[in-house]
Amino acid sequence: MNIDIKNFINTAIGNTETREIGSENETDLGDDIVLKKYIGKVELTNLEEEVLARFKVSVDIETICDRCLERFATHNDFRFEREYTFSAEEDKLKIEKDKTIEIFEPIREEIILRLPMKKLCKEDCGGMEKVD
Ligand SMILES: [Zn+2]
Repeated sequence: MNIDIKNFINTAIGNTETREIGSENETDLGDDIVLKKYIGKVELTNLEEEVLARFKVSVDIETICDRCLERFATHNDFRFEREYTFSAEEDKLKIEKDKTIEIFEPIREEIILRLPMKKLCKEDCGGMEKVD
């Protein structure tokens, strides 16, 4: 998903604008993680040569329990921010030539970052075989 910032980058420095974001397209994120849908907002701040994007997203994910190997759905709300710039700088994202910013990749990164190392369908999942 790309957000058009053509007009926004010509507004006054320090100006902010909030855009609604979201998608109901199911997306395979790899490692048995499927993004069912996401919805949220991104608040853009015009910083002259850069645009600060503050994200607030709610995601519905489906993944596989590491203990019982069943698929389960989970919901996650989180906030994060990224800076977009015209020049290629490390740890910043690039404003595209058509004056848009791509937002899905950072959302994908954050989802993966925030998933626990051990994904469990429930805290006390008994797993596949019970050893008494
Ligand atoms: Zn389980």
